[in-house]
Amino acid sequence: MAGDKIFDDELLSRCMSCGFCLPSCPTYRLTGEEASSPRGRITLMRAVQEDRLDVTDPTVLAQSEFCLGCRACEPVCPAGVQYGQLLEQWRDTEWQGRRRPLLARGLLAMMSFVGMVGITLLGLVRRAAVTRRGTEAEPHLMLGCVERVLYPKVSRSARRLVPALRAPAVQGCCGALHAHNGESERGRRLARRLGRRLPGTIVTTSGGCSAHLTAELGADRVVEFSAWIAAGNGPDPAQLRAIMLDENGEPLPPHASGGRPARIGLQDSCHLRNAVGVWREPRELIARLGEYVEVPDAGGCCGAAGSYSVLRPADSRAVLAPKLDALAGLDLDYLAVVNPGCYRQLAGALKGSRTRVVHLAELLATAAPS
Ligand code: SF4
Ligand code: SF4
Repeated sequence: MAGDKIFDDELLSRCMSCGFCLPSCPTYRLTGEEASSPRGRITLMRAVQEDRLDVTDPTVLAQSEFCLGCRACEPVCPAGVQYGQLLEQWRDTEWQGRRRPLLARGLLAMMSFVGMVGITLLGLVRRAAVTRRGTEAEPHLMLGCVERVLYPKVSRSARRLVPALRAPAVQGCCGALHAHNGESERGRRLARRLGRRLPGTIVTTSGGCSAHLTAELGADRVVEFSAWIAAGNGPDPAQLRAIMLDENGEPLPPHASGGRPARIGLQDSCHLRNAVGVWREPRELIARLGEYVEVPDAGGCCGAAGSYSVLRPADSRAVLAPKLDALAGLDLDYLAVVNPGCYRQLAGALKGSRTRVVHLAELLATAAPS
């Protein structure tokens, strides 16, 4: 990036304003307004870059906050616009000082604290963590700041499924939330530190962390859990089937429901699908456990979007609403997730319904031999 420019000119110039991305954008779908589309936001970025608009302009600020950062605009873009990078560059400038949403400041401070103390003070997670650091030859499980606090059972399930996974207690934060909230350099530093603490292959159970770590450390070091299992690590898929079905081919509890195979859907993680390209693997694994049911627009954001559901709860609920409508007609036993933000969002929304929200690692662990 040259001089005091906010955006990388080469990245910014790729957009040819074709509008292919508009239908995939959840905020554009909500408003129908050009300004809240990927193309509209890139137009705003160009105006800022060329000093036709200031970063304090109300529309510029509002759109930098309204964007979910889901990156659904990337895979559909024929010009290969790397919108996620542009958004990080935008917020690095836009979200400084008092312009950064107040809650985002608090959230980043909390993440830094969790990263600083590692997980040694969090007894909930101690059961999932082993203190000894492994070697480069041993795969390491990343515990994740949010997941380690809210859903420690995900890490426990992953380790139950693959006991060879090392999970050292002191890991720190991967920096994904920092990168998404105007502190991308700090996000990079945290990712590199985590890379040093977890040598060799890093296995993640959080789509958001997976995308950030892959971008910073490389796809040769970082692999998401479902992709790792589908690639032949962990239990043999044939074993899973044997555990799940009785001698008559009937599903066994808890996945059986009324004597039929459990109906299991999946909510994609935006970052895992759009940035890392992992979407087929979790579906293949689920199909071994029960009846896989494709959720309409499963790749569309559920509104969790990292810190978005905390920063903008009303917009988050509006993005979630059509997904809940779609889920209502599916009669699912389980809705599998691969990201803690989606877990929190959907478990809260589906509380009291017959559909149980579970992380895919949990679902697999109940199918695997203990
Ligand atoms: S971001 Fe891509 S799809 Fe969207 S308008 Fe620009 S070139 Fe077209
Ligand atoms: S990141 Fe998501 S919300 Fe933001 S412009 Fe792209 S598709 Fe729209």
